[in-house]
Amino acid sequence: MEGVTQTFQIKTRDRKYIGFEDTEAETQWQGAFTFIQAADTQLGLQEKYIEKKTNPGWEKEVKWCTQMVTKVNKMNPAPKFLVICGDLIDAYPYERNGEEKETRQHQENDLKMVLSELQIPLVCVCGNHDVGDTPTAKTILKYQSSFGDDYFSFWCGGAYFLALNSQFWQDRREVETLARAQDEWLEAQLLYIEQHKPRHSIILQHIPPFIDTIDEPSQYFNLPSYIRQEMLDRFITAGVRYVFCGHYHRNAGGVYNGLEVIVTSAVGAQLGTDVNGYRVVNVMEDKVVHCYHGVE
Ligand SMILES: [Zn+2]
Repeated sequence: MEGVTQTFQIKTRDRKYIGFEDTEAETQWQGAFTFIQAADTQLGLQEKYIEKKTNPGWEKEVKWCTQMVTKVNKMNPAPKFLVICGDLIDAYPYERNGEEKETRQHQENDLKMVLSELQIPLVCVCGNHDVGDTPTAKTILKYQSSFGDDYFSFWCGGAYFLALNSQFWQDRREVETLARAQDEWLEAQLLYIEQHKPRHSIILQHIPPFIDTIDEPSQYFNLPSYIRQEMLDRFITAGVRYVFCGHYHRNAGGVYNGLEVIVTSAVGAQLGTDVNGYRVVNVMEDKVVHCYHGVE
């Protein structure tokens, strides 16, 4: 596995994505382009949670991820990047026992092996399984050393993207200082968007603010209702119109005051009736449209 993980490179530094720089080529609108939004590759969930096997493996997720990579590599013109909106692998980062730690490392290695075949830039966003349901300074650090910054921004083709750590809104008890740092960074980013007025401003995160409607009650699969409206109102004022998410393992979403929340089903295990898949997103001059595709 050693040779394999060497080919996987961390692509963020100082809260920026390396490869999409603030040059004219990326900050100015150059015409329509495509990117791929995937979520919940989550190696290990299918046999552990869905099939409840005694010795769960993750060959199925490896197969689905490989199918996605193969299909995306064949796309012409090539998409600008592929983003995985969290829950990259299933095993939690807590070190409750050695076995768990070992499983996580194996899942991480296998995911990186598959993704190393991807011929376009890979953008990783963290989910609750990546930083823990209750993140700690240690689990965040572990994530950063494996996959890069837990939140960052980048320009791409005249659109501005914010990748966020949504777990800070779900449970910040152990990481109050780190969560507040993201809040401050995010506010500065929103001011930057107000100033620079990108053609499109798009947010990428794991947990959806809501699944169907702004006024739905809080539950496992959405963000707490008490922060939801204020957060989205702030996004809208800044000029953000699209929030792409995962976590739900089903396709869903809705519109609130002109801001669209897009919830994309999993590359990995399904909790509903969707097929394993990913979303092809077309960024056009006046709008962003998207379509879900199966990996097969
Ligand atoms: Zn999740």
